[in-house]
Amino acid sequence: RAAEPAGPDAELARLASWQRELREQFPIVAAHPELAYLDSASTAQKPRAVLDAVQEYLVTRNANAGRGTYPWANATTAALERVRERVGAFLGDPAPDRSSVHFVSGTTEGLRAVALDWLAPQLADGDEILVPFADHEANLVPWREAAERLARAGVEIVVRGLPYQEGSGDYDHRALPGLVGPRTRFVAATHVHHVLGGDMNVHRLREAVGPDVPICLDAAQSVGHVPVDLGRLDVDFLVFSGHKALALPGTGAVWARQSRGPAFRPGGWSGTPNTVGLVSLGVALDWLAAADVGRIERWTTALAARLTDRLRRLPQYEVLGCQLSLAADATAQPRRGIVSFRHRGLGSDDLGFVLHSHGFLVRADSLCRAGARADDARDGAVRVSLHVHNTPEEIDGLLAVLDTLD
Ligand code: PLP
Repeated sequence: RAAEPAGPDAELARLASWQRELREQFPIVAAHPELAYLDSASTAQKPRAVLDAVQEYLVTRNANAGRGTYPWANATTAALERVRERVGAFLGDPAPDRSSVHFVSGTTEGLRAVALDWLAPQLADGDEILVPFADHEANLVPWREAAERLARAGVEIVVRGLPYQEGSGDYDHRALPGLVGPRTRFVAATHVHHVLGGDMNVHRLREAVGPDVPICLDAAQSVGHVPVDLGRLDVDFLVFSGHKALALPGTGAVWARQSRGPAFRPGGWSGTPNTVGLVSLGVALDWLAAADVGRIERWTTALAARLTDRLRRLPQYEVLGCQLSLAADATAQPRRGIVSFRHRGLGSDDLGFVLHSHGFLVRADSLCRAGARADDARDGAVRVSLHVHNTPEEIDGLLAVLDTLD
């Protein structure tokens, strides 16, 4: 593609007809032509294939899984096993094994399970873990809770913060070697940042921590938004939420490699799983694979770049993180489809209120950012997060409203 015109607008033009067809597959988009949904990082809208599969399952063969011997029950058990396989394949598991995929209600529950069920029982006095202090709070609270529970039992572990680069919000990989030592037992990291949209370059964490330390990846903002390939990510756990990947809420998975440390949640079915939700997850992942997640990433990244480039020309706004411009530097690492910005005079809630009143549904509040809630509220950031149904016209409409606010 080297000879093709560069820049986000050229990219959007190249993908326009592919995108139009996919946008039409979101009934909620067609139902609300007056609204632009710009909050897909919070939860994603569902394509018709997912809605139809939910209806079809509930109307024709709803039954429990892992119990019962009549055809609907057997079909449900088999369907969920296929979803397990689908999850592994979608994540690019190089050694596919259904026992590596564990269903959970979402990323929050998945990370808690890794922290409290798997990690905590293995830690001893003086052990160290490295966790993100400024990512989503779902990826800080459980590690802290594990440390607190251990402390109450008389075991003191050290919780260190993954170092960040000044200004950009990316992990500072150069500072890592000084933080990793013989007592480092575990690292938790984030794949794509939920406020800044940056790819946190987790493959470089492995170089810094060496081959033996388990790494757990919060992939809530990457699965379904950017290609995820376990064959290239040398991690031990990868956790994501179904509802951000076009499936129903209350679904998600922990992918757990079983080679470093004890098995994660050994055993089969326990309790009634979210059968219909998991059926929707399988269909959502099929839909995403057919749509081509790589193209979805290109589309949303180009939209984000269009927004960022134009926002930067409006002096009353400041884009968070080092949002790099595709237009200004074709070699720059683009942000994924997430752009957070603040207005120099308006707070987050006020800016959000104005945008909502014009039909632009953005995220305005503390953005769930660990350790930064008070700052974010004061600093007044709002977040625009994009998916394949979003259009350049929506971005331009948003910019037109933003331009009117001095
Ligand atoms: N981690 C990240 C990076 C997120 O963006 C989110 C949700 O926004 C979560 C974890 C929590 O996901 P859930 O609410 O689906 O459990």
